[in-house]
Amino acid sequence: MNTIQIKDKQFAVSIKEQDIQKEVIRVANEINCDLAGKNPLFLSVLNGSFMFTADLLKHITIPCEISFVKLASYQGVTSTGKIKEVIGLNEDIAGRTVVIVEDIVDTGLTMQRLLETLGTRNPEAIHIASLLVKPDKLKVDLNIEYVAMEIPNDFIVGYGLDYDGFGRNYPDIYTVID
Ligand code: 5GP
Ligand code: MG
Ligand code: MG
Repeated sequence: MNTIQIKDKQFAVSIKEQDIQKEVIRVANEINCDLAGKNPLFLSVLNGSFMFTADLLKHITIPCEISFVKLASYQGVTSTGKIKEVIGLNEDIAGRTVVIVEDIVDTGLTMQRLLETLGTRNPEAIHIASLLVKPDKLKVDLNIEYVAMEIPNDFIVGYGLDYDGFGRNYPDIYTVID
C-alpha cells in the first residue's frame, strides 16, 4: 500500500519495511559490540516501540533481559509536553546497564523525563536506542547513541506508531500528506 487513510488524514509510504529492517539490524549489531559482557536490561517503551523492540531484539545476540514500561505525552499530531508517570517498572535496575528502546524522539522531553526517573534508581549506565529521531525538533540535550533513522519534522505513522490509536500495525512507515 502506497497511501493509507486514517480518520481525517492521508499518509503516503516514506520508509519501506526492508529499509527499516536494514537499519534495525545495524543498530542491533552496534549494541552487540558495545554492550558485550554487560547483560543489559532492555526497557521497551510501550505502545509505540513494540514492533521495533521485537525486531531489534531478534538480532541481539548477547545475554540480556527485556521489560516493558508505559508512559505517554502525545495526543493527535502535536506534542502536549504533558508527561505521565512511568508505569510498570518492576525490575531492580540498580547496578544494571539499561537500554531504553523508544519508537521516536521528537522534542526529547519524554526521554528526558524517563532518564530522570530511571536515574534515581542507580543504574550503572543508561543507553538510548530510538527507531527514529527528528533532529530539528530536539529541545533538550540528549545523547541518543543508537538511532535507526533520522527523519524530518513531519508526522508519521506505521511500524508501531499511531495516529489516534490507529496505524500501528503497518510494516512500513508513512508520512502525513493531507
Ligand atoms: P517527545 O516528548 O520527544 O516530543 O515525543 C515523544 C513521543 O511523541 C513519542 O514517543 C511518540 O509517542 C510521539 N511522537 C512524536 N513524533 C511523532 C510522530 O511523528 N508520529 C507519531 N505517531 N508519534 C510521534
Ligand atoms: Mg514512544
Ligand atoms: Mg502515539
